[in-house]
Amino acid sequence: MEYDYDFFVIGAGSGGVRAARMASSFGAKVAVAENRYLGGTCVNVGCVPKKLFVYGSQFSKEISVSKSFGWDVETKGFSWETLRDNKSAEIERLNGVYEKILGNAGVEIINGTAVLEGANQVRVNEKSYSARYILVATGGWPFIPEFPGSEFAIDSNKFFYLDQLPEKAIVVGGGYIAVEFAGILNGLGVDTTLMYRGPLFLRGFDTSVREFLKEEMTEKGVNLQFETQISRIEQQADGLEVSLESGETVFANSVVYATGRKPLTSGLGLDVAGVATGSKGEVIVDENYRTNIDSIYAIGDVIDRVALTPVALAEGMCVANRLFNENSYDVDYNLIPTAVFSQPNIGTVGLSEDQAREEFGDDIKVFESSFKPMKYTLGGSEERTFMKLVVQSSTDKVIGAHMVGPDAGEIIQGIAIAMKAGATKAVFDQTIGIHPTSAEEFVTMREPVRS
Ligand code: FAD
Ligand code: NDP
Repeated sequence: MEYDYDFFVIGAGSGGVRAARMASSFGAKVAVAENRYLGGTCVNVGCVPKKLFVYGSQFSKEISVSKSFGWDVETKGFSWETLRDNKSAEIERLNGVYEKILGNAGVEIINGTAVLEGANQVRVNEKSYSARYILVATGGWPFIPEFPGSEFAIDSNKFFYLDQLPEKAIVVGGGYIAVEFAGILNGLGVDTTLMYRGPLFLRGFDTSVREFLKEEMTEKGVNLQFETQISRIEQQADGLEVSLESGETVFANSVVYATGRKPLTSGLGLDVAGVATGSKGEVIVDENYRTNIDSIYAIGDVIDRVALTPVALAEGMCVANRLFNENSYDVDYNLIPTAVFSQPNIGTVGLSEDQAREEFGDDIKVFESSFKPMKYTLGGSEERTFMKLVVQSSTDKVIGAHMVGPDAGEIIQGIAIAMKAGATKAVFDQTIGIHPTSAEEFVTMREPVRS
């Protein structure tokens, strides 16, 4: 049967764009439908603007550190409008870059909301298209739990376009976004409180890392309130009155909820096409990213596996290779490195100490180091850096590497390659350090702190 397209991709985000470009480069006739913004979450309301805001917020510390190096800097203040609008201009530039990249790759962009009409049929703007294969790459959407006054809370999408910077803000949640946003607001001079329902934020990360970041964020002035839940928000003339489950009432100009994201599938027509979904609304796929409908595939945040851009890219490439390049392989979900752009940053790969203990019992050794980075030794910041290696004693393999400190993500990326290659602690020890750096500490930790 003749189809309009070989491959119809729904969603021009991280995964969709990569899959579309690759499929086209393998000779497929490809269209991608997008109803909001080219580049998806990461480019528009995720990784990119977030990191620009993190950079922006770090200057307050940089300025105070520069004084200890002899710089006599006078700051006249900070303009939120300038940071926000320069960020937005950069995002618009990137939207254009994505349009060009897709065009150059021969992918047709269809602007509008795509709705599945069947196993091989998609409708956009009242026009119906047929396709041999359809890829659902619609990503996720922020989730705010419902409670009295929850409509006064804002989500991460709105955070990037705030009219003005609040004087006093509450960030709710204990995951990546809450921790990153609290750091941004605090660095920009906002009186910031982070409220998390559990005993310690960043559940799933190494406990020493979580404890260390707690100390560092507190030292920087973020008010961390754990085991705290909001029960009600009321709008007042001058801001928001926030009632806590403890009975306490606090005031804030802005309450930002970062309580997770849900797969974005509403109105997509999954039911019409007969595509099965799970309890969180995620599209269920097999190891080849194929749904229960043979011609429909899904990747990225919408399948709710690992919600990271490089993972969506890897999944997109895998599907394109499998369908149009006769190249079948599995995405390796082992040892995915990740960074939290908190202040200071977290970089991590492999098992936490608790996970390692669960898997290997007493057969582990733990190496730790904590120090003041050289840049802060002259004054202006009390920030410290933390590093940790978890090693399986019997094989000497490094099975976990964790860091809290400047550029942790940059450093852990390299460590992840070594760990993928199966590096042992002996290999780390034999590697000559680069001096003077923080990273050299990873090859000079000699005595285990626990074994
Ligand atoms: P998305 O990028 O969300 O793309 C989906 C696209 O589909 C969107 O453009 C959407 O408009 C479109 N769409 C949806 N439905 C339809 C429809 N029916 N018709 C047409 N188009 C549709 N990851 C990292 O690795 N590093 C980070 O630093 C990082 N920071 C983040 C910060 C924030 C605040 C957030 C929210 C996320 C962050 N992430 C980060 C996660 C990362 O953004 C996602 O994992 C990634 O974007 C997922 O890609 P995707 O292709 O699955 O979906
Ligand atoms: P996360 O899933 O990481 O964290 C959600 C947080 O909200 C958790 O602390 C969770 O608590 C809490 N929570 C969930 N439901 C409620 C509720 N009803 N009431 C109160 N608290 C609640 O989600 P994020 O929104 O932070 O980020 C989404 C994903 O995007 C991340 O998991 C990550 O994959 C990706 N991302 C990656 C980044 C990076 O690579 N640097 C940056 C930002 C996002 P509990 O722990 O108790 O369940």
